[in-house]
Amino acid sequence: SAPAETYEYQAEVSRLMGLIVNSLYSNKEVFLRELISNASDALDKLRFLSVTEPELLKNAVDFDIRIQGDKDNGIITITDTGIGMTRQELVDCLGTIAQSGTAKFLKALKDSKDAGGDNNLIGQFGVGFYSAFLVSDRVTVSTKSPKSDKQYVWEGEANASSYTIREETDPEKLLPRGTRLTLYLKRDDKGFAHPERIQKLVKNYSQFVSFPIYTWQEKGYTKEVEVDEDPAEAKKDEKDENTEKKKKTKTIVEKCWDWELTNETQPIWLRNPKEVTKEDYNEFYRKTFNEYLDPLASSHFTTEGEVEFRSVLYVPPIAPLGKDDIINPKTKNIRLYVKRVFISDDFDGELFPRYLSFVKGVVDSNDLPLNVSREILQESRIVRIMRKRLVRKAFDMILGISMSDNREDYEKFWENFGKHLKLGCIEDRENHKRIAPLLRFFSSQSEEEMISLDEYVENMKPDQKDIYFIASDSVTSAKNAPFLERLLEKDLEVLFLVDPIDEVAIQNLKSYKEKNFVDISKEDLDLGDKNEEREKEIKQEFGQTCDWIKKHLGDKVASVQISNRLSSSPCVLASGKFGWSANMERLMKAQTV
Ligand code: ADP
Ligand code: MG
Repeated sequence: SAPAETYEYQAEVSRLMGLIVNSLYSNKEVFLRELISNASDALDKLRFLSVTEPELLKNAVDFDIRIQGDKDNGIITITDTGIGMTRQELVDCLGTIAQSGTAKFLKALKDSKDAGGDNNLIGQFGVGFYSAFLVSDRVTVSTKSPKSDKQYVWEGEANASSYTIREETDPEKLLPRGTRLTLYLKRDDKGFAHPERIQKLVKNYSQFVSFPIYTWQEKGYTKEVEVDEDPAEAKKDEKDENTEKKKKTKTIVEKCWDWELTNETQPIWLRNPKEVTKEDYNEFYRKTFNEYLDPLASSHFTTEGEVEFRSVLYVPPIAPLGKDDIINPKTKNIRLYVKRVFISDDFDGELFPRYLSFVKGVVDSNDLPLNVSREILQESRIVRIMRKRLVRKAFDMILGISMSDNREDYEKFWENFGKHLKLGCIEDRENHKRIAPLLRFFSSQSEEEMISLDEYVENMKPDQKDIYFIASDSVTSAKNAPFLERLLEKDLEVLFLVDPIDEVAIQNLKSYKEKNFVDISKEDLDLGDKNEEREKEIKQEFGQTCDWIKKHLGDKVASVQISNRLSSSPCVLASGKFGWSANMERLMKAQTV
């Protein structure tokens, strides 16, 4: 057969290998997590493709991952029955770093260096296939794609700039399909080949892989064997006639090696919520979404009736970095399964509106076709119903945080995702009733701690009809606005809208619990205390003054009017009833720059 061919790595690969080895030196054990996750991805890919190309499964073997440790020789083998790789795929996948996981790692490494360098953080990111060289001197990847009739062996060594590929010729080593990695461990890392160590790492890192992972373990079977009675013993029992024919049994332990199922394959969403602990949910979150912080809240539910599906949803603890995320619904935050088969995490608003795209989770439906396409997703009535339920559950979950005894939780939520909900006021009229109780604002009576609209309404005066607000760029400037004087004098609470998006959000809501939102900077503010007689008198007295001022200011103002809105300031610039508020004007200006 053809001899091995030698290939040079893409330049970045050699650099990356060096980086991985240096930065993960104290966290070497992640190599096993990475290689198992690749095996699991390969099985996922095969299962997905086989829906439309059943001939890929012509070599009938189970979907599983098997890991064997040979501690005497310091060798670990990891075998999966997944999609495998063709010769060309070996070159593309293991000779270049176009792959997502590794790119993410490089970025994380750079970010963490910029931030002072925390190598522990890096351990949370997928570092990919090359992590095998953290512990290995030499690695071989023997792989059989169902699309190719040949099996190929990729072989690489630590600190080398090239690798080889040859055809597998040893009939003993032929696979029905899939991939076998063989790691020849470095002298100091041979301990990783201990079967108990492998078992512990699998349990620790890969508990939620949805394919069975078997590890090669030495097991002790207890066995009852009959033994002939020792004559001395028999003598002692002689008096007792009943024991005469009794045979003795003895328990012995027989040792042998066998495959042992090492992970929990029942996906968390299929389990009974009563039997799943908070830590299980948190761990599932961290593992599934590659996060290192626990979520703020989770919700596990099943819906029945018209459409059946199961789901676990999460509110992340912090918003992703970068302001683009609020508008970008393509967050890969929702993983869709159909009958436990992973279908896609590439959604564009089909399952959640963009303002809720920060919600993470898994959704598993039995009612969608396995070969569901983007077009089907967009048109499906089932998906529309699912979306409605998911949105409702997401709101319940957020409401749950707001009602928690720990006020800080919601403050944290609001700090991270308050903007998203305000965007919801603008984009999702249908859910105003669900969004409004979740909003928070500072007010003239609560400048330090934000209040809810319910708290505002509770604090309204008996004859107060409206909810008052003023939009400004900060609490300080809101509180010094002359418009506020009369309201403060009457002890009326005023919401301070200090986030640029607040005013538009409130305008979209229009009212809360049948109380209208009223901008106190608009000209027709009616505080219900009109004294017509007195107004007439004042108009007569100051009418000419107003005309005089208007004449001098000319087009700079729309009109000059007598007002009862001030108590100590002599005059104020107010917005017209139908015009923009001063705050909006400021925003519009800022946008046109
Ligand atoms: P990532 O998993 O993020 O894509 P990796 O460096 O872990 O990056 O893997 C690189 C690529 O090598 C994978 O995308 C996949 O195409 C291929 N690969 C790795 N391991 C396997 C495997 N066990 N079976 C099939 N393909 C694999
Ligand atoms: Mg990977």
